[in-house]
Amino acid sequence: MGILIEKGTVVTLGKENRIIENGAVYIENSVIKDVGPTSELKKKYTPNSELRTPNYQSIDARGKVIMPGLINTHHHLYSTLARGMAIPGEPAKNFVEILEKLWWPLDKTLNKEDIYYSALIPLIECVRNGTTTIIDHHESQTYQVGSLDELEKAAGEIGIRSCLCLGISDRYDKGKEGLEESERFLKKLRTPNSELRTTNNLVSAMVGLHASFTVNDDTLEKAVGLAKKYDVGIHIHCAEDKADEEDSVKKYGKRVVERFKDKGVLGPKSILVHGVHLDEREMDILKETKTNLVHNPESNMNNAVGWADVLKMLEKGVMVGLGTDGMSSDMLSQMRCAYLIARNEKKDPRVAFMEAPRMLLENNPKIVSQVTPFGKLGEISAGSLADVILIDYLPPTPLNENNFLGHLIFGLVDATVDTTIVNGKVLMENKRLVGIDEEKITAKSQELAQKLWERFNK
Ligand SMILES: [Zn+2]
Repeated sequence: MGILIEKGTVVTLGKENRIIENGAVYIENSVIKDVGPTSELKKKYTPNSELRTPNYQSIDARGKVIMPGLINTHHHLYSTLARGMAIPGEPAKNFVEILEKLWWPLDKTLNKEDIYYSALIPLIECVRNGTTTIIDHHESQTYQVGSLDELEKAAGEIGIRSCLCLGISDRYDKGKEGLEESERFLKKLRTPNSELRTTNNLVSAMVGLHASFTVNDDTLEKAVGLAKKYDVGIHIHCAEDKADEEDSVKKYGKRVVERFKDKGVLGPKSILVHGVHLDEREMDILKETKTNLVHNPESNMNNAVGWADVLKMLEKGVMVGLGTDGMSSDMLSQMRCAYLIARNEKKDPRVAFMEAPRMLLENNPKIVSQVTPFGKLGEISAGSLADVILIDYLPPTPLNENNFLGHLIFGLVDATVDTTIVNGKVLMENKRLVGIDEEKITAKSQELAQKLWERFNK
């Protein structure tokens, strides 16, 4: 049975970029089959014209915007249980100390059940915020083997499309186990014809690395070899703090992106995250190699590491997307943050109006299409994957194709997501999660967090 979402304001995005008042979207299985005026689609998909009995599930979208699901191209599901946790000792005074005092001890403390539950929570938040696809970057040094299975299980249960990886580093066992787990998972996702799995089209993988300053040449080369073997890209933090650049110059006599280029890390299937401290030459290399860069402004502000000049990168033609770096699962507010900080940094109220939405709505779908085998995302069009969201929004001023971005940045960003559909499956309708027992999940995560905090502070 198909799904007919009807009587809403359809914002198709994509090449056609149409806005259809009283519009409808018809979904069959995991794919969007049709889009157009409600009256037309109703007629077309109601075969028994005499009885007018629909053979589809109808979703009433009156007072709502129907648009493609949003994408987060850099997440950290594992960071959840740190929320509200007290950290012993003096507060971290710089980026490296934040890693040393919080994230590294945390990833050392996570056990199998923690990983699973800490993934479920932000995945539910994805559903609530209309984020239908994520590219995640995981770390859990004392529970590495099998850790990606826990994430896959959680994503499968909640229903979010995900591309997973483990952030390998030399902080422990010279990256050996991380490489093994990455290969195990990549192998598992292969179908018999040796392509990465596309049967359920909901999970994919990359080879993850933490960052240049925690990865020696041997581990880097092995990771690149693994990525080549499985025809996937590398997902790695890059120049998040200036310490990363300084380390690379000191140890290898070159800047991080130059090091990555020489080692074969770069290319259209790879993702560098942050790029706060890149120089112009490094930006040019990203452009030349068609490497993706993901901007995470809220996280960069939180860690006080600076602002990545994504406007310059976009102008140069670098593919820049938008992520949350585990800060949240809300992509619209991340987009507005990207818009605001760019204006503030440039001291220019003319910039970023086009660029911030472009990173989210155009570039994130392109990045996913380059790094995963999922298929067409990011637009409401026949043949696109059925990742669709409905947002409560009664436009207080005229809304059309030419002024949609104004409504997006100043209106939709604060509106409530009502319905979330991923791969043709309804995960939330009328703001109610479907088949997900959120109370039970949060009660369990509270219990696990308490125990984790005690181990963390031991
Ligand atoms: Zn990150």
